[in-house]
Amino acid sequence: MKNRAIPLRRCIGCNQSKPKEELDRYVIKPFDKIYLYDESGKAPGRGAYVCKGSEECLKKAVKRKRAEFRRD
Ligand SMILES: [Zn+2]
Repeated sequence: MKNRAIPLRRCIGCNQSKPKEELDRYVIKPFDKIYLYDESGKAPGRGAYVCKGSEECLKKAVKRKRAEFRRD
């Protein structure tokens, strides 16, 4: 049985819902089509989530969003 109190977020790569701890958060820079990695998970703005450390999901996210994802 899963604990329903844990807030889930959906990975935009594989579309699976997971606890926030298992996802990397990215924040979109308006108008730029660039997502910046949000290490704190608290940066303001519209967030997107990708499975932590998953190259596969990141690639899918890039395709789906037609945007750039930056980790620096
Ligand atoms: Zn994923």
